Amino acid sequence: MAPQRDYYQVLGVAETATTDEIKKAFRRLAKQHHPDRNPNNPQSAERFKEINEAHDVLSDAEKRKKYDQLRRYGAFAGAGQRGPAGGSEGDSGVDFDISDLSSFGGLGDIFSSIFGRRGGAKEPEVEEIETSVAIPFRVAALGGKIPITLTLSEVCPTCGGRGAAPGATISTCPECKGRGTISFGQGGFAVNRPCPVCRGKGTVPSKRCGTCQGSGEVRVEKRITVAIPPGTEDGTRLRLKDQGAKGKGDVVVQIQVEPDRFFRREGLDVIGVVPINLAQAMLGSKIKVRTLDAKQVVLKLPPGTQHGQKFRIPGQGIERNGRRGDQYVEVHVQIPERLSPEEQAAVKAFAEKAGLKY
Ligand SMILES: [Zn+2]
Ligand SMILES: [Zn+2]
Repeated sequence: MAPQRDYYQVLGVAETATTDEIKKAFRRLAKQHHPDRNPNNPQSAERFKEINEAHDVLSDAEKRKKYDQLRRYGAFAGAGQRGPAGGSEGDSGVDFDISDLSSFGGLGDIFSSIFGRRGGAKEPEVEEIETSVAIPFRVAALGGKIPITLTLSEVCPTCGGRGAAPGATISTCPECKGRGTISFGQGGFAVNRPCPVCRGKGTVPSKRCGTCQGSGEVRVEKRITVAIPPGTEDGTRLRLKDQGAKGKGDVVVQIQVEPDRFFRREGLDVIGVVPINLAQAMLGSKIKVRTLDAKQVVLKLPPGTQHGQKFRIPGQGIERNGRRGDQYVEVHVQIPERLSPEEQAAVKAFAEKAGLKY
């Protein structure tokens, strides 16, 4: 279950409460709802858990700061939908981009990723799989689907994970005498390691499974499709729920955004450099520019356009959460590297007329 309660309400303190006040409220409530004082009372047990969670987060300055940031966006029940409060400049030092909310599976996931806690405590531990994928700039900007192939370990279908060939007899491992671990001295300490002969199982088969060579596991490839939300930034981590081996465990995909030949990104805006020649810059011109979604737009350059000047094409940037950025065309004036004698004479004549010294 994802934490949905507002932690300040859980502890009954103001959002401006000091750490001391939070601690006091926690102690009072923890006493009141302690399982020892409320035997066989599931409501109290639930409340006790909540109180502990709230205290765990609010008493830690780092965690509280992040929680507060999430809370301002109305992430938790009862916290009120206030929306982004003021500018985000004041939030420096928080390495969490609130606008990435849409990239996550849900608020519970964000919460887990910040506070390192899984929702359902009773669930058996399933390993999380981490992978990374490089995606083209355009897919990151506009959104799209990217297929990835995961290599997963699954229980061997032939032996069911026992590592024994069909019909083989199983006996106690002679190396570890069935313990599954062996200990050896290291720097005055006895260190336990999984037994290399039985690989921690404590038993050995008379004949190993041919499919998995006795390991009990096989490597399988699984193809999954990752939906890339529009406006995905480099380094974004997408969590795919229950996409691991046999549909268990989450797959966390770290996104690397490949640079584009033409575009670079600033927030929701995209910037593309377009070369123009000297005559276009001096006399003005109409140039064709392609947008992020491969449309062509005609851009009018005024006479006297400067090198590095930027022209805005409204609404052609990256769209995210209903906001859309702009495209900027940065013109670079190309100077001819070589002039023929006639061209040189013409430029000299121009320079004289314009009073340019050289
Ligand atoms: Zn096997
Ligand atoms: Zn063994």
